[in-house]
Amino acid sequence: MDHFLYRDGRLHAEDVDLSQVAAEVGTPFYCYSTATLTRHFQLFDDALSWGPHLVCFAVKSASNVALLRVLARLGAGMDVVSGGEYLRATAAGVPGERIVFSGVGKTREEMRLALEGGVRQINVESEPELAALSEVAALMGAVAPIALRVNPDVDARTHEKIATGRKEDKFGVPLSRAREIYAEAARLPGVEVVGIDVHIGSQLTDLAPFEAAYLKVAELTRALRADGHDIRRLDLGGGLGIPYTRSNEPPPLPADYGALIERTVGDLGCEIEIEPGRLISGNAGILVSRVVYVKEGEGRRFLILDAGMNDLIRPAMYGAHHDIVPLAEPAPGAETREHDVVGPVCESGDTFARARALPPLAEGDLVAFRSAGAYGAVMSSEYNSRPLVPEVLVDGHHVAVIRPRPTFDEMIGRDTIPPWLA
Ligand SMILES: *Cc1c(COP(=O)(O)O)cnc(C)c1O
Repeated sequence: MDHFLYRDGRLHAEDVDLSQVAAEVGTPFYCYSTATLTRHFQLFDDALSWGPHLVCFAVKSASNVALLRVLARLGAGMDVVSGGEYLRATAAGVPGERIVFSGVGKTREEMRLALEGGVRQINVESEPELAALSEVAALMGAVAPIALRVNPDVDARTHEKIATGRKEDKFGVPLSRAREIYAEAARLPGVEVVGIDVHIGSQLTDLAPFEAAYLKVAELTRALRADGHDIRRLDLGGGLGIPYTRSNEPPPLPADYGALIERTVGDLGCEIEIEPGRLISGNAGILVSRVVYVKEGEGRRFLILDAGMNDLIRPAMYGAHHDIVPLAEPAPGAETREHDVVGPVCESGDTFARARALPPLAEGDLVAFRSAGAYGAVMSSEYNSRPLVPEVLVDGHHVAVIRPRPTFDEMIGRDTIPPWLA
């Protein structure tokens, strides 16, 4: 469910005509819907309403401060994985007590930054990190609230690059060593154990791996409590998938996910934290692009767009599918033809779709990549010296640029020529 629909034959973001935005902002650009962001956050919040909880938005999926502000005003917490994301969350007005700091390679500087600014919990992923955090906190006269990220050795059955809960993945500590490391944590002066953390991967389209992981977390909770630890929070991670195409079976709903959490860990009396990213931001954003050329190849027709893999890398990186729709609504029953949809970047990997059935399109026409709100703009770059793609936010009939496109001078001006080359 999203708020990008045709109205009077033209694709709108809520009440805003996207062709008009394209005329004002230029293409390509990302556009986000406040109503979709809000709705998806609310679905999670409602799904956990059976007990104390905090929905912490995974900032890495869509990190524009304006988007974070929308969610912060709804009471969302934030899950951050770097000092930069921590500062984005605070810039959006999120108080430290609603920020969870995750990530496998936090530096001491990042730890200091979070402890100085205030943090709800730091999710620790290894013994050396635990030792470093205790040292940093103790030097500051602080005590860091921590959860240990455990690796439950569960296969999330998702794309290789985004599975994180198998024993061969770099994340967390093995479940078999958890009690020992919690005992170590209890002896350290700079940390205080508050809970357990787990995150098994992204774009999960089946609840079974979550269930397997959460049952292991429940068992560990009981064991750690018996060892004398005050386990009062469970951070169950993110990862619920979204429908990237309408033809597939839809992934489980947040309500079913919430019920699964209640069934597996609900009797432990813990405050529940979850860290959804994609399911909140994915369908809340689209990428709008213009057709530069339609090129007839040998036996194939190429649709060459002004958006490239530097603007949306998911197809090249994960083989991901994005529905592509024209901004001008095709007539009902309009004929379609197969197109290879490609960008202008000088790599064959800069291909968004092969043999995609699309209605007739011509030079200058506008198209939108749907479900591009998560892991879209955040993974964009200036490869091929294509200025960073801008972002636009819509709320009802309001529309605002929330990150402008840099000018060529701004882009090139960041480089400096050293004196010996002057
Ligand atoms: C990426 C990530 C998330 C969010 O995953 P989604 O699939 O976007 O919901 C949550 N927690 C951690 C620790 C992550 O690395």
